[in-house]
Amino acid sequence: MWFRRDLRLHDNAALHSALSQSDNVFCVFIFDINILDNLKSKEDQRIEFIWEALKEMKTSLNSIKSDIIVMHANPMEAIPAILNKYNCEALFFNKDYESYAAKRDGDVMGCVSKLGVESYQFKDTVLFEEKEILSQSDKPYTVFSPYKNNHLNRLYQDGIIQHDCESNKKKFAVVEAEEIPSLESLGFKKTNLDRLKIPTGSSGGKYLLLDFEKRIDHYKQRRDYPGKKGVSYLSVHNRFGTISIREQALIAMNKQSEGSLVWLNELVWRDFYFQILSNFPYINDGASFKPQFDQIPFENNLQFFEAWKSGQTGFPIIDAAMHQLNQTGFMHNRLRMIVASFLVKDLLVDWRWGEAYFSEKLIDFDFSANNGGWQWAASTGCDAQPWFRIFNPLLQSEKFDPEGLFIKKYLPQLKPLDSKQIHRPHFFYEKDPDTFKVNLGKDYPFPIVDHAIQRKKALLMYQAT
Ligand SMILES: Cc1cc2nc3c(=O)[nH]c(=O)nc-3n(C[C@H](O)[C@H](O)[C@H](O)COP(=O)(O)OP(=O)(O)OC[C@H]3O[C@@H](n4cnc5c(N)ncnc54)[C@H](O)[C@@H]3O)c2cc1C
Repeated sequence: MWFRRDLRLHDNAALHSALSQSDNVFCVFIFDINILDNLKSKEDQRIEFIWEALKEMKTSLNSIKSDIIVMHANPMEAIPAILNKYNCEALFFNKDYESYAAKRDGDVMGCVSKLGVESYQFKDTVLFEEKEILSQSDKPYTVFSPYKNNHLNRLYQDGIIQHDCESNKKKFAVVEAEEIPSLESLGFKKTNLDRLKIPTGSSGGKYLLLDFEKRIDHYKQRRDYPGKKGVSYLSVHNRFGTISIREQALIAMNKQSEGSLVWLNELVWRDFYFQILSNFPYINDGASFKPQFDQIPFENNLQFFEAWKSGQTGFPIIDAAMHQLNQTGFMHNRLRMIVASFLVKDLLVDWRWGEAYFSEKLIDFDFSANNGGWQWAASTGCDAQPWFRIFNPLLQSEKFDPEGLFIKKYLPQLKPLDSKQIHRPHFFYEKDPDTFKVNLGKDYPFPIVDHAIQRKKALLMYQAT
């Protein structure tokens, strides 16, 4: 059983099948050198998150005299070698829909079949995949609402079947594996996961889910306010499969409250973007979902891009959000929408630059959701925001962080400001610089652009496409 983005021993489709069909199941995880070598920062929270999840799996398996074999290698070489070493007759794994992974898995399957080993792959990451949900004309959906309706109908009709792995526990092979390679030996360093108290492993996912279940009924009212604890914070667990998508959907479906159903919708968005990736693979190569938007004449001002990345734009909601991302690897969904819109439609920078920055920084980075989110904000995607709709960052700030609680957390130098001043300090500073409580230009920058002017430029820019 080859684990990848499904780092759990419960409700795991491929593991369930491996345990049901085999006498001796060997668990394997490969830190794929082709992925690790391409990570820019050697302090990468995601590597540490995976490492912690593997440690927990190893402890669980050790308690039943089994183990997980963890290697730092090229899977094309390592998988056949392990199959040989343990005389395995079959290889089980769950599907990964990202382009590199899908190609790699195809290659590995080809290679192991030459050894006479069968391989079996399973749907596990999503509720419905690829072409399972099609329109009446048998085409993949490109608009969310009809997709969602069809998806939910099927979900209630078919019901959710969880994959029991507990009752076949004795099928895990008795084996003693080497220690998990240290972060240092993988070429990485410890990050701030401990300090941020991000709960890791499937125990961490379970803890967050239980915590969220107590709040799920208020999800609809609270989800848009980054200063409130309204969302589940489960995205990193969804990314690495330390939680099962089925257990989450079941909770939401059984609860049937307004909040739980809105949350279920978000899980459907997740499936939606996965099916977009599977059915329209050209988005992998940086193409706009809508080809007519491939040639937007972005200004791509490097100074603006640097100011955005480092949270120095002079727009408190943008800067606080970027500090949250840079410091914690997470950003609240409402803020992802605001900063993405700001980069593209206020700073006139190519959405692909922002997409790439998020892919380096987000602990929950998932190509499909990230690409979907960026193309939505840039109006180039399926079911995207129309291009003439442009968020006003100041109004968004007043609406979704009315007291400035979130802003003050990440920009403590603005704490002396009241709930009116905090969203647009320059405006109040200019009225009376001498008594203003923050030294603008020194402790916090003036805005690098004027929203009204940039908005007009953005409209012209889009009209030119
Ligand atoms: C520009 C942009 C980039 C994004 N990049 C990513 C990314 O790389 N990885 C990622 O997981 N999400 C991404 N999202 C979607 C969303 O912001 C996060 O999933 C969410 O903020 C995670 O917080 P949560 O777990 O508390 O979510 P909740 O609100 O509790 O939602 C529950 C789960 O549903 C899924 N989900 C929620 N919203 C979306 C969405 N819009 N699209 C797809 N899945 C969703 C996530 O798995 C999430 O854990 C992006 C959104 C935007 C606008």
